[in-house]
Amino acid sequence: MKSHSMQSELLTELGKHLVTGSLTDDSILAETGKTDSVSILPDSNVIKIGGQSFIDRGRAAVFPIIDEVVENLGRHDMIIGTGAGTRARHAYSVGLDLGLPTGVLSVLGTFVSMQNARMIHYLLAKHGIPFIEPAQFPQLPLYLAERRACIFFGMPPYTFWQKNPAVGRIPPHRTDTGSYLVSEVFGSRSMIYIKDEKGLFTADPKKDKNAKFIPEITVNELIEMDLQDVVVERAVLELMQNAVRRRSIQVINGLEKGNLTRALEGEKVGTIITAD
Ligand code: ADP
Ligand code: MG
Repeated sequence: MKSHSMQSELLTELGKHLVTGSLTDDSILAETGKTDSVSILPDSNVIKIGGQSFIDRGRAAVFPIIDEVVENLGRHDMIIGTGAGTRARHAYSVGLDLGLPTGVLSVLGTFVSMQNARMIHYLLAKHGIPFIEPAQFPQLPLYLAERRACIFFGMPPYTFWQKNPAVGRIPPHRTDTGSYLVSEVFGSRSMIYIKDEKGLFTADPKKDKNAKFIPEITVNELIEMDLQDVVVERAVLELMQNAVRRRSIQVINGLEKGNLTRALEGEKVGTIITAD
């Protein structure tokens, strides 16, 4: 009895429905979107440094982007995620050959993206920039306030809880996706992908010389185009359809000096993909 009266005094209308109703009831679920969600770190920028497209190129690509990150310290807060790249693809191929499932491949990819995060971290270590694992994310706001940047591995930490893809066995949520999800949950001011092409084209510019550059596009238009290949993981596009906070992403060519800075300044460099 007592708990019942407390319930009616303390709970909102929605609260009453939630505690007595079912979390699979569509009408109750619709009510849960009525309050605005807060932007947790609205001044932060999430930056993903590509694995295959960028870090695997070694010193020639990585050193200049490290310099550019350092130049922007104090001007822009940066949460930096890393891709996995060629070594992960090798691990996936061996794992596939051995008959291992998606969840196990996801574990393998996680560790490769962690290798890259550690390399980027040690290059930035003298600036006091930490590498954090998912368990250390509660400290992220402090690191950002103190040092204005931190490094994380881009893979979402699902490991063997990774969902199976519709086709084949490669983990569908990889480092583009993990980085995107960080920008969405924190309500970051940008999600910038550093890759080795100007942005999105009508086809992979490495394979098709006639591919046309697309400076701006919506997720729906992009899905409608049904391209053979795209510049970010398709899971990012799917997740953007239900995005609450981070409703656009930007893909830039990090091999061109100054592009990261321009993107951080809000310039329309590269391709901008929006949810609307
Ligand atoms: P990352 O290492 O950042 O995960 P990926 O290598 O997975 O990057 O993806 C980026 C690559 O995608 C580009 O280097 C480009 O060759 C390729 N790509 C495929 N389709 C497209 C497209 N439609 N537009 C631009 N790039 C594309
Ligand atoms: Mg990739």
